[in-house]
Amino acid sequence: APGLYIVAGPIGNLEDLSPRAARILRTADVVACEDTRVTAKLLRAAGSERPMLPYHEHSGPDVEAKLLERLGRESVALVSDAGTPLISDPGYSLVREARARGLAVSTAPGPSAAITALSISGLPSDRFLFAGFLPAKAVAREKAISAVVGIPATLIFYETGPRLAASLAALAAALGGRDAAVARELTKRHEELVAGTLPELAARYRGQEPKGEIVLLVGPPGEEMSSEQALDEALLTALKTMPPGK
Ligand code: SAM
Repeated sequence: APGLYIVAGPIGNLEDLSPRAARILRTADVVACEDTRVTAKLLRAAGSERPMLPYHEHSGPDVEAKLLERLGRESVALVSDAGTPLISDPGYSLVREARARGLAVSTAPGPSAAITALSISGLPSDRFLFAGFLPAKAVAREKAISAVVGIPATLIFYETGPRLAASLAALAAALGGRDAAVARELTKRHEELVAGTLPELAARYRGQEPKGEIVLLVGPPGEEMSSEQALDEALLTALKTMPPGK
């Protein structure tokens, strides 16, 4: 049927492509994708010979307008280089516009690195905030971190090896001794999860540039306290338990 299909692909392990996602890739009229070389491999794994059409942040409004026009009479599958489209990947404006025009939008769901990392992190998973990539520049990064300081949820960031140490140092400075985790190369041969407090992880990765793809998670504000907070709490408890008139 005509319409837009948001199709999730693997995040590093081709076996994670679902049979339904593969079927949609085999039957769609066209597969919109970020990098045709990356998606060519996916289509081969799916047994698909459907044509590809590049669609990414630099493709501009013309490509999107053409896709929207085709959506009315053809089926378009949107995939990204890894995981779920729209999650730190292109697709948002296409979905928004398709919906605004009353066109069908459907999905073949699958992995996303953020949820995958959260599910094995050992950090609270009942409430979380996905915050994408932290900015590369120090001032913007600090501003982004201060915007999430008080949020009572596990924070999930996408990271790169070269920036990991700086992000950990900035997070430790702003958020103190919270529990955290670095998830690397999920679903791949060298999958690894390193857990520790933010200061521990900042020390561990100082001066290092770990290889591969990384998700950084920080637990919610909780038991860990700054020294001032600890003192305030102790004074409050002492006041409350003081007998009246003393
Ligand atoms: N759309 C993708 C998703 O659903 O996860 C994310 C795309 S974003 C451009 C790429 C980032 O996702 C990487 O820099 C890394 O932070 C994270 N990522 C993707 N695959 C990963 C993996 N196998 N292990 C750890 N992190 C991964």
